[in-house]
Amino acid sequence: MTARADRTAMHWGGATDVGRVRTNNQDQFLARPDLDLWAVADGMGGHSGGEVASQIACDTLGQAFSDRTVDGLIEAVEQANTAVFRAGTDNPELTGMGTTVVALAAVEHEGDEVLAIANVGDSRCYRYADGELDQVTTDHSLVADLVRDGSLSPEEAAVHPQRNIVTRVLGVYDTVPVDVFAVDPHGGDRYVLCSDGLFNEVPEPAIAAVLRRRRDPAVAANELVQLAVEGGGRDNITVVVVDVVDDGGRAAAASAALADDDAPGPSAGGPPSPS
Ligand code: MN
Repeated sequence: MTARADRTAMHWGGATDVGRVRTNNQDQFLARPDLDLWAVADGMGGHSGGEVASQIACDTLGQAFSDRTVDGLIEAVEQANTAVFRAGTDNPELTGMGTTVVALAAVEHEGDEVLAIANVGDSRCYRYADGELDQVTTDHSLVADLVRDGSLSPEEAAVHPQRNIVTRVLGVYDTVPVDVFAVDPHGGDRYVLCSDGLFNEVPEPAIAAVLRRRRDPAVAANELVQLAVEGGGRDNITVVVVDVVDDGGRAAAASAALADDDAPGPSAGGPPSPS
């Protein structure tokens, strides 16, 4: 699937799965290639609250994102917060529902094009570039705070029983602080938007290995979700892979460096799946 802005073309693919333990899928993803906008939301709340919250957040983002700038993306996330908050206060069954959100959009910035990445909560955006996987966003979670102040190692955080506790959430209060990151688009770079159901089950080297092997973003997204299910599937899992395939010549043909190995079946080149 392809979306084309003035200069940057993006290919994308997305997948979501309920996992092995939960009875419903409260994750949601948004793909609006016509707006160069993608998002993942991980809802929480009793009854149907979590599903409603992530759905309203994604719908509102798509409707509200008209000013295609960094500020326009922040504003759309703020409007999503308001929409979820109002739905929660209007309906006693849904009171207290909320959702994470991580959104990526190609936007205009000072006469150039940048990728704006906004987040609230612990859904993540990773960048895979030059064979390296890096987390772009900062988690708003209890364990991330504990790692930052040195009381927990990243290894301890990964298995901490309270690793699901978020410290910032969309839709629970009438306003929410939104983090935003702006990065230059480079041909060949890949972005992964995901809920915690991915990174709590699949170690980052295994995520990177899939991105290295699978050139088609839909194939990569599906395989990442499948790995998380096989790794335990204790939560809903959602993955959107967005590839920068052209940046107007600033990094021509870098995507050619990606291995094209989308053939089905086990790959000889990758590490074993986590079990
Ligand atoms: Mn989750």
